[in-house]
Amino acid sequence: FIFDKTIFDKLQVTTDARVSFIYDTLAALKQELEKHHSTLFTYYGEVQEVWKTIQSEYNVQAVYCNEDYEPSAIKRDQQVAKDLAKENCSFFSFKDQVIFSKTEVVKDDGLPYTVFTPYSKKWKAKLNDFYLKSYPSETLLSALYRCKPATMPSLAAMGFEHSNLPIPALAVNKSILQSYDQTRDFPAIAGTSKLGIHLRFGTISVRQLARTAISTNAIYLNELIWREFYQQILYHFPHVVDRAFKPAYDNIKWLNNEKQFEAWCTGQTGYPIVDAGMRELNATGYMHNRVRMITASFLTKHLLIDWRWGEQYFAERLLDFDLASNNGGWQWAASSGCDAAPYFRVFNPTLQTQRFDPQLAYCRKWVPELDSFNYPTPIVNHEMARKRVLEVYKKALG
Ligand code: FAD
Repeated sequence: FIFDKTIFDKLQVTTDARVSFIYDTLAALKQELEKHHSTLFTYYGEVQEVWKTIQSEYNVQAVYCNEDYEPSAIKRDQQVAKDLAKENCSFFSFKDQVIFSKTEVVKDDGLPYTVFTPYSKKWKAKLNDFYLKSYPSETLLSALYRCKPATMPSLAAMGFEHSNLPIPALAVNKSILQSYDQTRDFPAIAGTSKLGIHLRFGTISVRQLARTAISTNAIYLNELIWREFYQQILYHFPHVVDRAFKPAYDNIKWLNNEKQFEAWCTGQTGYPIVDAGMRELNATGYMHNRVRMITASFLTKHLLIDWRWGEQYFAERLLDFDLASNNGGWQWAASSGCDAAPYFRVFNPTLQTQRFDPQLAYCRKWVPELDSFNYPTPIVNHEMARKRVLEVYKKALG
């Protein structure tokens, strides 16, 4: 495993729960392998440089890895494959993090889907036991390379301290999945699986989870399909990383008011559901999906702040941060995405609260000063903001 210095340097922090999580997971895996008289080699550095060291030490014949659809990862893997080829070393990559790879669910003419419903129909029609079978990693234990335990660079040596932020358990709670369709939209209820971080880092198998979903809840399976939908969008349309999926939306004149952005980030907008969500994110690294939609809509539509600002803020804090889903979620909220909310749909935070947090249990949990004079008045008037965004979007879209 290579701790990629390029990625770490970008984090610009010394404590990151995701780094601690990867570190602890690898240490446990290493220990497990050592019970079988093998080990796990871990390196820290620039990926190409690390490969030079490995190659000079082991004269590697072939490299096997799992594919990644993020544009920077694709570029990195292509570069490594090219460097290794010069040393007569082969490079093979395989599907792992999804049930269907980037080109396995496409339209009849071979083009990628850009609308979720037909994509999900084809996805489900193609699904069979072959695609749901677990990969036989346990049966390969006897074929492991036998060697002495390797040393692992410490977190401190890589510039990090261990984070104390709790990580959602790696446990599939069947009773939550059974009632998922009834409870998933209510942030005050523990009604979702919280397995995002495990899907993101591969500590749970998507095939195992899909098998459980099929036998428990079709709506939960649907969410796993959304994840794959955004993965293949990122692969086929890598421009979404910096630009709108629909180019006309790049003409929107964002207001980008920094003071209002700060109020949004810190949960001080005067809209309890928005503030509760942002405070939950800041405190735990998690935010409920319904509230992600509300806070993202509020930032882009009520405040007319560029979706990329919000996307970046989420990317830095979400434990389950995943480029494909985060970008997909943000572009959905800003209406610039492939199968997004229509631009004239502006979530009303008050109505959303009445529907999804009617007792204000979620709001009060994160905004205890809700009824006091200490709580700010709304930084923007809903009706004014709704009219303003419609005008600005209309103008941009021509
Ligand atoms: P559950 O409801 O239990 O769902 C199970 C799994 O299905 C999730 O862990 C996730 O892998 C997948 N999933 C569920 N909903 C979606 C969805 N709408 N799109 C894609 N996959 C989904 N999800 C991320 O994994 N990483 C992100 O960085 C991310 N950023 C988001 C940003 C915005 C603005 C929005 C609106 C959504 C974002 N989502 C993201 C999607 C969704 O909010 C989270 O996957 C979900 O809240 C994670 O909680 P959970 O594990 O309890 O999910």
